[in-house]
Amino acid sequence: GASAQDKLRTSGYDADDPATAKGTQMIKTHGYAALTAKDALAPFTFERRAPGLKDVQIDILYCGVCHSDLHTARDEWHMTQFPSVPGHEIVGRVTAVGAEVTGFKVGDLAGVGCMVDSCKHCASCDEGLEQYCENGFTGTYNGPLFGGPNTYGGYSDNIVVREDFVLRIAPGQNLAAVAPLLCAGITTYSPLRHWKVGPGQKVGIVGLGGLGHMGVKLAHAMGAHVVLFTTSPGKTADALRLGADEVVVSRDKDAMAKHANSFDFILNTVAAPHDLDAFTGLLKRDGTMTLVGAPAEPHPTPSVFNLVFKRRAIAGSLIGGVAETQEMLDFCAEHGIVSDIEMIAMADINGAYERMLKGDVKYRFVIDMATLKAASA
Ligand code: NAP
Ligand code: ZN
Repeated sequence: GASAQDKLRTSGYDADDPATAKGTQMIKTHGYAALTAKDALAPFTFERRAPGLKDVQIDILYCGVCHSDLHTARDEWHMTQFPSVPGHEIVGRVTAVGAEVTGFKVGDLAGVGCMVDSCKHCASCDEGLEQYCENGFTGTYNGPLFGGPNTYGGYSDNIVVREDFVLRIAPGQNLAAVAPLLCAGITTYSPLRHWKVGPGQKVGIVGLGGLGHMGVKLAHAMGAHVVLFTTSPGKTADALRLGADEVVVSRDKDAMAKHANSFDFILNTVAAPHDLDAFTGLLKRDGTMTLVGAPAEPHPTPSVFNLVFKRRAIAGSLIGGVAETQEMLDFCAEHGIVSDIEMIAMADINGAYERMLKGDVKYRFVIDMATLKAASA
C-alpha cells in the first residue's frame, strides 16, 4: 500500500513542496453533499486547497450526473467516505493557475473527469493507463475508493486539480452537453478502441442510459453496424436517431434468438444485475462482451458452456487514461458528438436520482452550476 507520505502527496498537500504546503489559503467552496447513505443531497460548504505550482483552479459551469454518483452517495458499493460530494463530469473555466502550469491560462475552458491524481511512476501510469494505477489513483470524489484521501467532486462551484489531470475543451461547442463526455464518453470510447471496433463489425450496446447512448454514438462514428439492446421499448426511435442500425428489446426471446452467434463485440452498460448468458450467446466465436456497468449486487453466474464452446470472453473496463480522454474529446469535437442532455438545477438532484433509477433519463442529466451559485450568493 501507499505510505502516509504518498497519500498526502496524492491529495495535493506535499510537505516537501512549498508550492502545495500553504495550508492557510484555502478556497471556500459551495456544493451539495450526502452526509450519510440515507440522506438526500443538501447544500454543503467546504474548503479546497489553494492552487499549488502545478495546479489549475476551475470555476465549474456544468457537471453531468453519472449513475456512479448515485451508487456512491447511497454507499451501494460499501466504500463511501462521507460527507460525499459526487460529480465527475466537469466542464468549467480556469480562474487561476500555478506558476509552473504551462497548458492552461486564466479564461481557458477546462474539463475534469473521474481522476484527479495517480502515482505517475508505476507500470500502468507509464503506459498512460492512470485509471489502472498500481498504487490507486485518486478519484475526483470519494478518493478512498481506490486508496487515497477523501476528495469532493463536481457538484460544487469550483475545483482545484493538478494540471496533468485537466483536459482541454475545444471552444464553440455546447458546453453542458460536452460535460458527460468526461465519464460516459471515455468509459465507452476506451473499450470500443481497445477491442478495435470499426467498419465491417457488428457491435452491440446494452442499455440506453448515459453510458449506453454515448456508446451508440461513438460505435456508429467508428463505422460499426450498431445494435442497441434495451429493456425499454419506448426508447427505440431515439436509439435509431442516435445512430443505432437496429434495436432489440432484450426481454423478447425470439428477437434475441435471431442474433445468435453474430456479434464481434458487445458493450454492456447496465447498472443492475441481469442474465449475462442472454448476451454471451449472441457473440461469434472469439467475440467479447465487456462490462462497464457496476451494479451494487452481483450478476447471476454466467454459463461456462456459453464461453468455452466458442472461446467467447467476458471482460471489464474502467473509464480511460488522461491521454485517451483527451483523444476522445478531440474525436467528439471533430465528429460533432456531444451528449443528449436534460439540464437541471442543483436543487433538483434528488428527484433526478429517482428518475435515473427508473431508467427515465434522456439521456444524461447535467447540473447548471449557475443555479448553485445563485442560491448560495
Ligand atoms: P444510467 O444512465 O442509469 O443507464 C443504465 C441503463 O441500464 C438504463 O438506462 C437502462 O437502459 C438499463 N437498465 C437499468 N436497470 C436495468 C435492469 N434492471 N435490467 C436491464 N437494464 C437495466 O447509468 P449510467 O450512468 O449509464 O451508468 C451505468 C453503469 O455504469 C452504472 O453501474 C455506473 O456505476 C457504471 N459506470 C462504470 C464506469 C466504468 O468505468 N466502468 C464508469 C461510469 C459508470 P434501458 O432502459 O435501455 O434498458
Ligand atoms: Zn461516471
